Amino acid sequence: MCAIVGIFGNENASRLASLALFSMQHRGQEATGISSSCNGKIYTKKNSGLVSEVFNEEALKYLKGNMAIGHNRYSTAGSDSILDAQPVFAKYKLGEISIVHNGNLINKDEVREELIDRGAIFQTGMDTENLIHLIAKNSKCRLQDRIIEALNKTIGAYCFIIQSRNKQFVIRDRYGIRPLSLGKLKSGGYIVASETCAFDLVDAQFVRDVKPGEMLVFSEKTEEPESIQLFEPNFRPCAFEYVYFARPDSVIDGKNVYRTRENMGKTLAKNDLNNGIKVDMVVPVPDSGVPAALGYSVESGIPFEYGIIRNHYVGRTFIEPTQEMRNMKVKMKLSPMRSLIEGKSLLVIDDSIVRGTTSKRIVKMLKEAGAKEVHFRVASPEIKFPCYYGIDTPSKEELISHRMTKDEICEYIEADTLEYLSVEDLVESIGNDRNYALESFNGDYFVTQ
Ligand code: AMP
Repeated sequence: MCAIVGIFGNENASRLASLALFSMQHRGQEATGISSSCNGKIYTKKNSGLVSEVFNEEALKYLKGNMAIGHNRYSTAGSDSILDAQPVFAKYKLGEISIVHNGNLINKDEVREELIDRGAIFQTGMDTENLIHLIAKNSKCRLQDRIIEALNKTIGAYCFIIQSRNKQFVIRDRYGIRPLSLGKLKSGGYIVASETCAFDLVDAQFVRDVKPGEMLVFSEKTEEPESIQLFEPNFRPCAFEYVYFARPDSVIDGKNVYRTRENMGKTLAKNDLNNGIKVDMVVPVPDSGVPAALGYSVESGIPFEYGIIRNHYVGRTFIEPTQEMRNMKVKMKLSPMRSLIEGKSLLVIDDSIVRGTTSKRIVKMLKEAGAKEVHFRVASPEIKFPCYYGIDTPSKEELISHRMTKDEICEYIEADTLEYLSVEDLVESIGNDRNYALESFNGDYFVTQ
């Protein structure tokens, strides 16, 4: 998951990078970091915690220079080491470089083994460190050529921003799996960010998305970034960004995330037209189910009600990723609006079911609070396969839809009825003008060696 940002050609580069990271906090809360560049030297600050905790005035003062790159790290089970925070910084033959990465490199183990055989020493468990080694061990004179050669050995889903003492290189993989957009700062210079929601806070105008397979080179010598098409594009943007991951106010590859989620809810309502179920209200699981629930309500004419209230102060780092703690976390996070739902039939919408923890707990909670019926609707298809392209889904065995049929899940979560979107419905809701990455739903692992 994760968020990345690059600011180039602005005297407040690190401050703007920290603001952009703040707007993309939803993409990762475990750790955050920024590298700036000034007079041939790279300055880096990174730590575990939220952007607002790590970047105080003192840190921003230290991060001087008119270019900066930044990263928010998403918490994955068993890897909360500060060593795994980004940017990854290194000194090598041509000077200093710093790298941020969003995605997942699928040939990381082979590449790492080969590098270790050739004597490389690794400091972290991150696949991003492979790229540093590949760049450092290359014999080309120009950094740009070294990066291109390193990328030729790199397979997977990636958006990279690489910063040297005076340049920034931005690369999106040939499938464009993870999002990346270019904006122009009103106060001067450019921004590249994982999501366009970062542009509002720093007063930037959206220019365009970075193209699949494209490298942008920012340098002091040219006003505009240079564009190099490195790889033949085969556009397969990740559908899960629209389902769950991105912020609703972001526009990803030309599609407003909120609208796509609203469409998913409308489609669920259309599918329910002749099912004979009578419900009193549509209730979202906050916050992820809200746009789909609004869409359902508009399409069906059934009132939308906040039947579940979310406590926004339950942090992710607070709780260990064990099943017991996950159960507790749902309880701490979500509470029923008793007076609203007592004796009522509810249609509850969430964006996805992964392990089944949240949905089971919610149905139980709503029934204990007096709901007569709970009909559960999911604004995505059944997640049957793990994602290896940068979304943190658990192993196959942990995915409830891998182990159980829809009817078995309905019984397990104790809902009165359960419906998902079909894969075709999902594609239609986002817009069927392109080929999406849908591997979590259909097992199509198209990124091959
Ligand atoms: P679960 O309780 O494991 O079934 O997870 C479902 C809940 O987690 C839903 O409320 C989703 O909004 C949320 N969710 C979906 N995908 C992810 C993910 N990759 N990481 C964290 N939360 C997720």
